[in-house]
Amino acid sequence: MQIDILSLFPGCFQGPFDESMIKRAKKEGLVRINLCDIRQFAKGKHRKVDERPFGGGPGMVLMAPPVCAAIRNCKKKSGYVVYLSPQGRLLDSRLARKLSRKKHLLLLCGHYEGIDERIIKKEVDLEVSIGDYVLTSGCLPAMVLVDAVLRFLPGFLGHPEAASSDSFEKGLFKGPQYTRPLEFEGEKVPEVLLSGHHEKIARWRFEEGRKKTKKIRLDLYQNYLEQVKKKEKDCESTNSRV
Ligand code: SAM
Repeated sequence: MQIDILSLFPGCFQGPFDESMIKRAKKEGLVRINLCDIRQFAKGKHRKVDERPFGGGPGMVLMAPPVCAAIRNCKKKSGYVVYLSPQGRLLDSRLARKLSRKKHLLLLCGHYEGIDERIIKKEVDLEVSIGDYVLTSGCLPAMVLVDAVLRFLPGFLGHPEAASSDSFEKGLFKGPQYTRPLEFEGEKVPEVLLSGHHEKIARWRFEEGRKKTKKIRLDLYQNYLEQVKKKEKDCESTNSRV
């Protein structure tokens, strides 16, 4: 997989992408991450990339010519352009999994008040938001997206089943985890986890994850119940046809 990140501050990415799992993935050739400085595509002595918004209002807006030139320079035939934006589709694990199947992602980071709308019309395939709040630039959202996407890339995680057993994969949170010591400040590890009974352990974990999802994220829980009902209905209609 190739990921091109287009921003005004490529230096922001150097720490996070040079440690731990992403560092290893780059070294092993699972992913190639190219940092592109949009300013290199600006014309004139001062390489100006932003201007005041037409119609007035605060702040500066990234101009179409340097941003479009940067995208066109990095884009290959299979390139899929994502603009990180608070006005985009919310990033969730389903979308991260879908994006992990793309051969070439181009992540466009906005700055200041955002980007000229014509860039979105001409060059962007999808706008993606990492949550209903506004950050100062698209750099942190791009890092979040890269991390979430790479977890689904085959070979990225040590264990092939790790990503599919995580929270959200079955519509609920994953159950609680414990490790040594057996007792910590008077709190013992739940008995069932020591039973060696795999079915009981799986049921307990599922049930704990279900209860926590219901308590903390009723929206997710209700969606999960709807999916279960739909699956049951589909099963019934298949059985009646057989
Ligand atoms: N004026 C814009 C608005 O109200 O929609 C916000 C611009 S924001 C200050 C600057 C840049 O940060 C955006 O262009 C975008 O790239 C990025 N950004 C901010 N919040 C984000 C979020 N929740 N998800 C993804 N990107 C975000």
